[in-house]
Amino acid sequence: MQIEFAKIEEKILKGNFNISNETIVQNKYESFTINNVNVSFRAYRIDKNDVSIKEKINGEITLICTNCLEKYNETIELTTETIFTKNKSFLKGEVTLTETDLDIQYLEGETIDLKDEVIKTIDLYIPMRHTCRENCKGICPICGTNRNINPCNCRIERIDPRMEKLKEFLNKE
Ligand SMILES: [Zn+2]
Ligand SMILES: [Zn+2]
Repeated sequence: MQIEFAKIEEKILKGNFNISNETIVQNKYESFTINNVNVSFRAYRIDKNDVSIKEKINGEITLICTNCLEKYNETIELTTETIFTKNKSFLKGEVTLTETDLDIQYLEGETIDLKDEVIKTIDLYIPMRHTCRENCKGICPICGTNRNINPCNCRIERIDPRMEKLKEFLNKE
């Protein structure tokens, strides 16, 4: 879904589109899938150089749990507003922003890719650590089983190096 910057007028332009079954690779280790997401948007012109795009994103995504590496679904409901500017002085940092949470982007080309914006928004929304449930037990470092499904009996011996030093010290006494 793309809109031409020049075609956005003062009168609000409304529309919606769908993204489904799309896997986004974030980096070498992480990815997420947009199962089915509906996006409704509103675009309008602020002035010659600036347009505003608001997007409402609703739907379901599939994530991979950081703890147990199993896939799980999450319902999302996100709203964003981005100002796209053609004002070159914005790049030089001459435009000072009063509202720090306002997202302003310099537009390189002539079109705005709304789908790209949705993907970026979802990507930013996903925290570094995201787990399938609140107290996901993760994978056992000894036998490798998913401890949510099969609690194993492996004993993880934790030796605190400071305790070791203390033991040595007490033995000398
Ligand atoms: Zn998990
Ligand atoms: Zn185990």
